[in-house]
Amino acid sequence: MSFGNSPNLERRQSATAMTILEVEPTPDGEVKEETSDTSPAGELVPEREGGSVRVPSRIETRRPLEAKEKGSMEDFLVSLFECPVCFGYIMPPVLQCARGHLLCSFCRQKVTLCPVCRISMTNIRSLAMEKVATKLIFPCKHSQYGCRERVLYGEKLNHEEDCEWRPYNCPYPDDKCKWKGPLKDVYLHLVHAHENVITMEGNDIIFLATNVNLEGALDWTMVQSCHGRHFLLSLEKIYLGEGCQQYFTACRMIGTMKDAAKFMYNISLDANNRTLRWQSKPRSIRESFASFTHADFLVLNKMTVEQFSEDGNLALNVVIKKVQDPDEN
Ligand SMILES: [Zn+2]
Ligand SMILES: [Zn+2]
Ligand SMILES: [Zn+2]
Ligand SMILES: [Zn+2]
Repeated sequence: MSFGNSPNLERRQSATAMTILEVEPTPDGEVKEETSDTSPAGELVPEREGGSVRVPSRIETRRPLEAKEKGSMEDFLVSLFECPVCFGYIMPPVLQCARGHLLCSFCRQKVTLCPVCRISMTNIRSLAMEKVATKLIFPCKHSQYGCRERVLYGEKLNHEEDCEWRPYNCPYPDDKCKWKGPLKDVYLHLVHAHENVITMEGNDIIFLATNVNLEGALDWTMVQSCHGRHFLLSLEKIYLGEGCQQYFTACRMIGTMKDAAKFMYNISLDANNRTLRWQSKPRSIRESFASFTHADFLVLNKMTVEQFSEDGNLALNVVIKKVQDPDEN
């Protein structure tokens, strides 16, 4: 046998340690060659008793356990990452007390003593556990609401941020409504609880905001349903002081950010021989106007609104298109 083959041989032999229970003693009482393999702990080696091989009974139960442990080992490892304070899974940095009890960095800020053993809490990271975590699959933290996704440690936060099962705040623009619920209930909530929300079907509609100059009229909201989805159109008026006011308008999808990225919308204003057109991707209702980064909505000043309104009403033509869905290729 060439030297180069021996590592393979060794690997094959140690693999047989797992199947040792299938090994029967040969008629002459000798143990077959592969049964002489020992596991690192040595516990799988059958003991010889006067020409026969006695397999300790604790090994008898080992095979079904091992098959089961393949799944449960991961569950066991995942369970080690449960924070003893908030019961969430500990994300990096994984912190520990001097005795090794783990704690999430969020709860670490709230305690001075280890919640398990009551000694002073340190800021020591458990780098080994952080490495172990990268190889594990964790349940989504919204599993209590019905999410069945299990995600890699590195993808967990991103998934949870845009998880369709997470509770959504009511997207009605006046911020007064305290309703929270799953995405699938948002549409019904909007039409039942907010009676001034108008609904319209079709991918090319007119969103008519009436009496835009009226003092005290601050927001106009409509739900546009097309492509099997619901989109929330909003126009908000904000007073900036000294008679100065601005209008913000945008389309947000009643869906996750990932879903919203599959669409495109444009808003056009066309009146009094003037045309204005805005095109963008809808945001998710997860994002309020205030949280939009880079001011990704159409901003109109008072003068522009006056130029485009007729009889005090502003007609916004909204067209929503589905763009190429990368998942459908
Ligand atoms: Zn915690
Ligand atoms: Zn401790
Ligand atoms: Zn989820
Ligand atoms: Zn509401």
